[in-house]
Amino acid sequence: MCMGSKQQISVFWFRRDLRLEDNTALQNALDSACPVLPIFIFDPDILGKLESTRDARVEFIYEEIIKIKTTLEAHGSTLQVYHDTPEKVFKNLLGTYRICHVFANKDYEPYALGRDNKIKHLLASQGISFNTFKDHLIFEGPEVLKQDGTPFKVFTPFKRVWLQHFEDLPKLDIATLLAYQKFLKTDPSTAPSMEMMGFEKTFRHFPGKEIDQNTIKNYDQLRDYPALNGTSRLGVHLRFGTVSIRKMAALAKKHNDTWLNELIWREFYAAVLQHFPHVVSAAFNSKYEKIPWHNNEAEFKKWCTGTTGFPIVDAGMRELNATGYMHNRVRMITASFLTKHLLIDWRWGELYFAHKLLDFELASNNGGWQWAAGTGTDAQPYFRVFNPASQTEKFDPKHEYIKKWVPEYGTGAYPPPMVDHKQARLRAIDTYKQAVS
Ligand code: FAD
Repeated sequence: MCMGSKQQISVFWFRRDLRLEDNTALQNALDSACPVLPIFIFDPDILGKLESTRDARVEFIYEEIIKIKTTLEAHGSTLQVYHDTPEKVFKNLLGTYRICHVFANKDYEPYALGRDNKIKHLLASQGISFNTFKDHLIFEGPEVLKQDGTPFKVFTPFKRVWLQHFEDLPKLDIATLLAYQKFLKTDPSTAPSMEMMGFEKTFRHFPGKEIDQNTIKNYDQLRDYPALNGTSRLGVHLRFGTVSIRKMAALAKKHNDTWLNELIWREFYAAVLQHFPHVVSAAFNSKYEKIPWHNNEAEFKKWCTGTTGFPIVDAGMRELNATGYMHNRVRMITASFLTKHLLIDWRWGELYFAHKLLDFELASNNGGWQWAAGTGTDAQPYFRVFNPASQTEKFDPKHEYIKKWVPEYGTGAYPPPMVDHKQARLRAIDTYKQAVS
């Protein structure tokens, strides 16, 4: 029962679910007895770890929350935006309101789990429940297990069971109507500006969240060609929850199994992170911790700046540096090149991608890197080393992608290859073999 002289509210806390429609925890908050105050917290502990004050992801989040705030204000409510630690924000809220319940969608990353645990205890000390919901995934780790109850380490059998569960879902419960009258009626609030939080605008162009059905329908045919616009570009929207995974999975089921397959990879890596959190800092398969990485800083710099003399690698790195995006095929090629041709620790590349990718997602980035380095679940075997030249022949035969990002390719201004492919391949295989035998 909600009682007392302070105003009674439920709090809905937006995190990586920046949308009003089909938002599980928000729906549950609106179903609660008290009016709902929605909040968003710019957490200095997260912002402080970003490398640059010009981080397009902060801008993306900022733009999305301002859109939500504007919509809510048109309905007589607001989105309260804070720049403070979650603990301080909740302590302040507890001083101002009589809070009935707090609602949020689950976040499975290690920092978020620790943060939520603290908030749960803080609220519990006042007798308030912190209700969290599955929203970012169709199935959480413990929902897709082997028959003996242990987690999958290989994608294909995981996918088989995932699909069975997916078929068994009575229907994808996609909520469409939002009860705006259940939000707390209040005056518009003031959000801190990006500048006040120490960030500058980047004016980066963000991919739209409108889904081009033709892209999805033709995905299996076009997805591997980086010069074509053959993939959805929804990564950043799935990352920050500006689109609903349930809607995307329903669309995938209807139009293209290959695209559904990719969404299942996302769930697989999320499950790996939940079951095997050691992957955050170590090889999934511990025997690969013995690889004597060369970690040459000058070579790493060439890779980062797209000046390796391998045009497909350089095109990918320059696309990443310029746009915050890199095509999946090229992510695999650049990651393989760094770990195998240059024998640089996958964690260096993983961190570089984490700083640069708009769609950076800890679980998928870690999974992709460990796959390429051969250290992870279901990984590329170490003796399989991508040949950048034959990858180019197959996937960018007219060099359209390369020419777009490496205009000086083919002129004297382009650097020669920094390593010999054949020798580098043999060196990689030999190094891995010795380390694991
Ligand atoms: P589409 O090709 O249209 O696919 C739709 C969605 O499915 C993606 O947006 C993504 O959410 C999911 N998806 C697709 N492929 C994969 C995959 N292999 N693994 C997991 N999820 C997938 N994906 C990220 O979302 N964040 C990352 O930080 C990330 N880092 C990567 C690092 C490496 C080294 C590699 C090899 C892959 C990485 N991926 C990552 C996976 C994949 O490259 C991107 O999801 C994809 O390129 C995004 O483009 P898109 O939005 O057009 O996706």
